[in-house]
Parts: sequence; structure tokens; C-alpha cells
Amino acid sequence: MKDFVNVIGGGLAGVEAAWQAAEAGAKVRLYEMRPVQQTPAHRTDKLAEIVCSNSLKTDEPGSAPYLLKEELRRGGSMVMEAAAATRVPAGAALSVDRIKFAEFVTERIEKHPNIEIVREEVREIPTGGRGVGVPTILATGPLTSDALTAEIMRFTGDDQLYFYDAIAPIVAADSIDMSIAFKAARYDKGGDDYINCPMNRDQYETFIAEVLAAKSVPLKRFEETHWFESCLPIEEIARRGPETLRFGPMKPKGLRHPKTGEEPYACVQLRQENLMADAYGMVGFQNHLRYGEQARVLRLIPGLENAEFLQYGQIHRNTFINSPKILNETLATKADPHLFFAGQITGVEGYVESVATGWLAGINAVRVLRDQPMITAPPTSAIGALCRYVSNVETKNFQPVNITFGLLEPLPVELRKKHRNKRDRHEVQVELALKDWDEFIGTSGIVALPSGISRMSAEVR
Ligand SMILES: Cc1cc2nc3c(=O)[nH]c(=O)nc-3n(C[C@H](O)[C@H](O)[C@H](O)COP(=O)(O)OP(=O)(O)OC[C@H]3O[C@@H](n4cnc5c(N)ncnc54)[C@H](O)[C@@H]3O)c2cc1C
Repeated sequence: MKDFVNVIGGGLAGVEAAWQAAEAGAKVRLYEMRPVQQTPAHRTDKLAEIVCSNSLKTDEPGSAPYLLKEELRRGGSMVMEAAAATRVPAGAALSVDRIKFAEFVTERIEKHPNIEIVREEVREIPTGGRGVGVPTILATGPLTSDALTAEIMRFTGDDQLYFYDAIAPIVAADSIDMSIAFKAARYDKGGDDYINCPMNRDQYETFIAEVLAAKSVPLKRFEETHWFESCLPIEEIARRGPETLRFGPMKPKGLRHPKTGEEPYACVQLRQENLMADAYGMVGFQNHLRYGEQARVLRLIPGLENAEFLQYGQIHRNTFINSPKILNETLATKADPHLFFAGQITGVEGYVESVATGWLAGINAVRVLRDQPMITAPPTSAIGALCRYVSNVETKNFQPVNITFGLLEPLPVELRKKHRNKRDRHEVQVELALKDWDEFIGTSGIVALPSGISRMSAEVR
């Protein structure tokens, strides 16, 4: 058992962790409970199934999400390779065909000679019994099974932390009325990648009134509802004020009707879901209205009068641990250096953020296996910023985060003075962070070799 690493959860974080550990030469057991046991959001038995939006956010150089993706690409991330191979048009965003993406990842993992996939629900943290001394990464995500959640709560000694998250509806492309809707990307970034459903003022006001009047699915438990602020359901946004949706997911800015040249009063955008382009997701339209109510209210949107819904909006409870108390910046637990957490359960939020923590945990699990010092990502990097945030005991009221410039170490004062324009400043910050990153992966023994070649240098082995 000396050269084994356990990875629990074959989601975005788990597959990256397994890949990095296996590429470093360790034998990996990757436990995934699907299809033996499903989660409320997953639909397939594929690894790295993306449960909601197919967008991995912007890939525009000079942005924080780009920096995070670029660090992973330079660090030999298999998941980022899958994203590149299954990309669909989405303007400046990196969006993927979800089915092909999960198939790509599943095939790569299944074929890796160092990885064994075990399809079972892990019900306890394997620190005793079968797991003695075996580095173990818990990457079971926001929908961790109940039995394991109870175990994790026992281990952390905490009441679990949670928030509510929601899924956006998906519409069949051939049911969208293209004599009303039009194709365009905001500010023409990316050509005709989105379908836009324009609304005039009357249509918008009627729509808001109907959203507010529609019946929601009652929550299963009657506790206070904590929403994740960047993924609020539309009915919750509408409750915050009649204009709020028009300044959020329904904002018309940068969209001009090709026939009239005018900006609509409000606009609903739909993004291509797959390479066949036969399904479109309603951007930012996550909600938890009853299905019948959703169909009725969403068909008030011009162009969607006869929409066929391939998936309705839904809501789920998301679980995360109190990481500042539990984790080090290496993502190993303070209580047991052989036990790691990765992915959304650590309190990072988002697909790529989850992959990033999986990447680091996978590398560090092999280091601990080989009695080598664990690594932390450079403080200037996006991965470093995320790990610093989740492990920072000073953080008051710990809440999940996406990567933003707010988390990154600020530029030195002289550079801030030199680059007063925010965009310039961000570009410089990304450039410097990537310089540090390249140095880090060069000196820490992780080298970005083409896929299939071991990524750890001889020194590390
Ligand atoms: C409803 C919903 C909507 C979301 N929408 C978005 C979005 O639009 N954009 C975005 O960036 N993020 C979204 N997220 C967050 C998203 O889940 C994460 O970004 C990402 O999937 C987290 O990766 P992960 O690897 O941590 O977890 P997951 O990808 O969920 O993977 C965890 C895996 O562990 C398995 N598992 C669970 N318990 C056990 C067990 N006991 N034993 C064995 N296996 C187990 C699960 O089956 C799953 O395959 C959403 C989450 C939810 C729940």
C-alpha cells in the first residue's frame, strides 16, 4: 500500500487530483459513487459531469478567471485539456460541450495505467482501517452523500456550513422563434455566439410581475436560506427590486438588434450548450419555480413562446467545510497531514476553482506519500490566492468565493501608481503572476510536459 493515494469523488476536483497524482507515478484509487448512488443534480455515470452552466467563465487575458485557467494549463491540467478539446463558441468565455467534456475526462482517467476507478459510496473518512497512512483527498463536492457528510461533520467538529445554489433551464434550439430572437454577442465579442430575446418595457414589467407571482418549490428544510450571491435565482433577484434583473442577467448593454440597431429595454441571453448546437442554456436564469410555473412564465419571453424545456431550473443545497479552521494552504488538514480536501467542499466556488484545488491536492498527496515537503502556490498566483483564502483563520464569516482580483495580492504601490487605469493594472498583474508561476512550476519539480509524460521531475521521484 506504500505507493497509493485515495481520491474520493470523481468530479472536477477529484479527476484533476487523481490525474496529477497518477502522472507523478503514484497508484490512485478514485472512488465515485455514481451510478450506484446518484446526487440530486448529476444525471450520468460520467466523471467530471458539469451539472449546470456549461461556461468555465471568461478566458480573456487580463482577467482573474483567465489567470486561474492559464496557471492550470501551464501546470499540465488534464481538465483544462478536456475543456480545450470540447470548447463551443461562447464569445470571450470558455464554454464546453458538457457531454463531450465528461466523456473526454472519463476516457482519459479510465485509460490511465495508474488509476483504478471504484464505483462505490465512501461512507467514512478512510483515516483508520483501510486508509492507515494512505494519503486521501476528499473531493466529494457540494452534494456530498449524507453518510459521508455526517462523518465529515464528526471529523471537523462543526455544524455543516451550507448555502443554496440553483440550476438554469435549457431550451431546445429548434423551439426558439428566431424571427423574434437574434444572434449576437455582447459588444460583438465573439460574433454570433448567443441567442438574444429582446424585451420592450411593457414586456419586461409584465414578466417581472409574473415572476414575483409565480409559485416556488418549497425548500425541504425550514432553516434560514443562505443564497450564493453570484448564483441567485431570478425570483430572488426580482424581489430585490423591479429593475434589479435589468441590471443583472437581463441587462441589454452592448446588445443591438440587427434590424433596428437599437438596444432593447431588457434582454434574455441563451448560450450554446453542445457542439450540435441543438440546446441552449438560459444565461443567469437559475430559479426554483415549480416546473409548470416556469414553463408558463418563461414562455412570456419574446422568442420563447413555444420553448421546449430540456431541463427546468432547480435548486440544491451546497455543503462546504469551515476550511480556515481545518485546512492548511497545502490543502492538507491541520489534524492529519495525510488527509486533504479539494473542490467546492473547501469553500471555493466554481468549476475551475474546484479543478485548481484538485490540482494542488493531487500534487501534495504524492509529496506526503514520498516524505517530501508539501508545496504552496505562489502568493501572487490565482491558485495561491484561493488556497490562502480558504485556509486563512482571519477570515470572518467564511463564505465560498470565486476567483477575483480582490483575492489576489495587490500590485506593489509603485506599479499601482504607474498603472492608474484598472484594465492596464490587471494586465500587468496577470503578466507578473504568470512570470512567478512559471518560475514556481520550474523550481518546485512540476514541469508542464505534454500530456502522457510524467509531470514530476526525477528529483521529486
Ligand atoms: C445545482 C448546482 C449548480 C451549480 N452551478 C454551477 C455553475 O453554473 N458554474 C460553476 O462554476 N459551478 C456551479 N456549481 C458548483 C459546482 O458543483 C462546482 O463548481 C463543481 O462541480 C465542484 O466540483 P467538485 O469536484 O468539488 O464537486 P463535484 O463536481 O460535484 O464532484 C463531486 C463528486 O463526488 C461524488 N460523491 C459525492 N459523495 C460521494 C461519496 N460519499 N463517495 C463517493 N463519491 C461521492 C459525486 O457523485 C460527484 O461526482 C453548481 C453546483 C450545484 C450543486
